[in-house]
Amino acid sequence: MFKHIKNRILFSYFILLLSCFLSIFVIASLFLRNAYFSYALNDLKDDAGLFNDDFTKEAIINKDLDLLKKILDKAEDNYTIDIFGLKNGVVGNSKGEVFIKKQDFQQEEFKIIPSKGYGYALREENSIRTAYLAIPIVKEGNRIGFIRISTPVLYIEKTINTLRLYILLIFVFAAVISFPVGILLSKGLSSPLLKIAKIAKEVSSGSLTKRVEIKKRTDEIGTLVNTFNEMVKKLEQASRERKILLGNISHELMTPITTIRGFIETLDAGKIKNRQSIEECLEVIKSESIYLRELIEELQLLARLDDLSVKYDFRPLNITAVILEAEKSLCLKAEEKDIDIINDFFTDSVFVRGDYKTLKRVFVNLLYNAIKYSPVGKSVFVSTRRKNGFLEIMVKDEGIGIGSDDKGKIFERFYRGRNEEQREKGIGLGLSIVKEILDAHKVPIRVESQPNKGSTFIITFPIV
Ligand code: ADP
Repeated sequence: MFKHIKNRILFSYFILLLSCFLSIFVIASLFLRNAYFSYALNDLKDDAGLFNDDFTKEAIINKDLDLLKKILDKAEDNYTIDIFGLKNGVVGNSKGEVFIKKQDFQQEEFKIIPSKGYGYALREENSIRTAYLAIPIVKEGNRIGFIRISTPVLYIEKTINTLRLYILLIFVFAAVISFPVGILLSKGLSSPLLKIAKIAKEVSSGSLTKRVEIKKRTDEIGTLVNTFNEMVKKLEQASRERKILLGNISHELMTPITTIRGFIETLDAGKIKNRQSIEECLEVIKSESIYLRELIEELQLLARLDDLSVKYDFRPLNITAVILEAEKSLCLKAEEKDIDIINDFFTDSVFVRGDYKTLKRVFVNLLYNAIKYSPVGKSVFVSTRRKNGFLEIMVKDEGIGIGSDDKGKIFERFYRGRNEEQREKGIGLGLSIVKEILDAHKVPIRVESQPNKGSTFIITFPIV
């Protein structure tokens, strides 16, 4: 029905105003009418009561029309009084008419309400709206007639109409005042939404640089705009990271493949005859293909971490046992470099909440780096200690250390230290995987290191 939210809001606004108006209109009219009638009826009842005396009863019983006329002369001008005999047809009114004529008493006002002691009605009389009230005349417990009093209700109709006119004027005034306010209000709602729609369209067509700009506001619209902008910022960041990642991946793949290809071509051309040189060539091809396999494995794991297909099975586990498992899978690598892994656990069994498989991966990566970046014959120390209900795990080496420039970046994807030695040894994904897994565990990791003095990676787990 509505193409624009602005019109929808304006329409609701109008309906709201109209329903307020109608309710006030009806309630005020009814209230005024009721108030008037209860007031007027009391007056009429008092006036009618003045005629309900022994003289009237005598005039009716004796069919004394002269007496009746005299009684009715007392009536004032602002109402009309009729006196009826119930059975003998005596009739008299304050206009001076007295006569005998049987009545059928079918009008509404003669249906006396027992609890109130009177009956009343409202109807047109010679095109004038008139209120009627009748009270019974009772003698010795028998109803012998009625006194009816009537008065035109022009005054109240006029008052109610004036009131209605005022309400209408107030409504028009309220509409005049509130419509511009309504337009402003609906604009305030619809304009940021339109802006969001415009930017969302641009985002869907690939442009991620623009943001929704509105004046600072703290309501739901403000929150929506902020969240939307935050989302676009994250998309932009992700898109940038994806481009960098793709560039890095192709570069990382290209280098070993070019090397492998070069060596294969050289071997294929039969230029190298010497057995030892051939073996050296094959060794390079082997190590490059191992590197390629490691790279692809790391990339696969990263991709799985990214698209959340790695299912974490969080449960209390003995973290000391996990560390020992990781050490076991690296013992060959440590042996190759004559590196001792020395443990100093404050207890053999301490439980933290985590996922066994991915946490083992964390320690494998940290220990692998510690071995990789340590000179032959050094040691790697793994220790745990309890601190304020937390468990600190330290993986320390006596290796080449990390420069202060590198420290902030080593957890980024594909970042490798500036040191030539480090560049050659790594892929640049190990620590980003560590970070991603620990983030999923909501567990922090930090590094303390000095070039040529070694590095210590510290993980702090809450103990369960
Ligand atoms: P990779 O080791 O494959 O290069 P990582 O993400 O594991 O990738 O590490 C990133 C960088 O952090 C490394 O290139 C290296 O410069 C530095 N680094 C990590 N661990 C150590 C360590 N124990 N000692 C010295 N440098 C380290």
